[in-house]
Amino acid sequence: TLVEEAFVPLRQAVSALPAYVPGARAGAGAPMWKLSSNENPYSPLPSVLAAITRAAAEVNRYPDMYAEELVGALAAHSGVAVENVVVGNGSVALLSHVLNAVVEHGDEIVFPWRSFEAYPIAAAVSGGNAVTVPLEEGTGRLDLPAMAAAITPRTRVVLVCSPNNPTGPAVHAGELETFLAAVPKDVLVVLDEAYLEFVRDPEAPDGIDVFRRNPNVMLLRTLSKAHGLAGLRVGYAIAEPRLAAGIRAVSTPFGVSHVAQAAALASLEPATQSQLMAQVEALVGERTRVVEGLRGQGWVLAETQANFVWFDLGEQTLERAAEAKAAGVLVRPFAGHGIRVSIGDPEANDAFLKVAASWR
Ligand code: PMP
Repeated sequence: TLVEEAFVPLRQAVSALPAYVPGARAGAGAPMWKLSSNENPYSPLPSVLAAITRAAAEVNRYPDMYAEELVGALAAHSGVAVENVVVGNGSVALLSHVLNAVVEHGDEIVFPWRSFEAYPIAAAVSGGNAVTVPLEEGTGRLDLPAMAAAITPRTRVVLVCSPNNPTGPAVHAGELETFLAAVPKDVLVVLDEAYLEFVRDPEAPDGIDVFRRNPNVMLLRTLSKAHGLAGLRVGYAIAEPRLAAGIRAVSTPFGVSHVAQAAALASLEPATQSQLMAQVEALVGERTRVVEGLRGQGWVLAETQANFVWFDLGEQTLERAAEAKAAGVLVRPFAGHGIRVSIGDPEANDAFLKVAASWR
């Protein structure tokens, strides 16, 4: 007879993992404005769609494993050498890869909280111990002095999310400089710049400049947000060559599909870039309009440099999210803490402003 109780045990860290809860997807039926996943609300540009269609005709072949053409284009786009660039299946995959490349069992990974939901999961899967540092009280900003103070001889990695998801502020160049001066040079600092293109704060650091002066800094960037390719999963890391090679070594082979590489390359063409950056500019304009509208309603908000706004709603969070959904607006609730609302097209933003007014 079969032993009914037999099962393969999961690693302890894995059975204890918090679930990654994605932003809600719009279902069939009633029209919904999807403001739950910080996506670019605009459909792909014709030039990108054409590249996708062309690439689709070749999917019987494996993709270029190291995405050489795309790596070259991203290096040129970012102003670094090709040895510094690694592409991955979304920047979230690169985060896992780099932790798997540098973290030994029991090493400490310091990161702010609340921040991006994938951090505690990637940290646990790597075998490291998560050390979370609360955000600055009331502002939604990273508390970099407290993060520096949390570093011990066991610390291997520090994650710096700027702008911070889900609260919105970007770190400032001066405070980052002071922080980096306090971090040992063999501790990796991952500067997660997923929302880079939306930043307009003149005090925000130039990531490339920071990377050039600090070889222990790795930049994490993505084509999911400003470039509108969330569904195709393309992210990239900018790292010193040995670290970049380590990330490649632990990556899943052929992790970025042929279609995704082609779409990413098309997105980086100068003409497409200028159209995409015009979309970003429109979204930044909408962000200003939404924030001013909300402040006009009496809301006190964290300063957002990303394509979303954050509402500290505490125990009202789930109820408010359900009300928004009933009004046709999908937002991203974090139970017991708050709601993150992406900046969408003007119509979606108007729909959300109406919902927010009803909460006052
Ligand atoms: N970093 C941050 C801070 C994010 O908010 C996100 C997306 N939610 C990512 C990384 C991952 O983006 P992707 O895997 O789509 O590149």
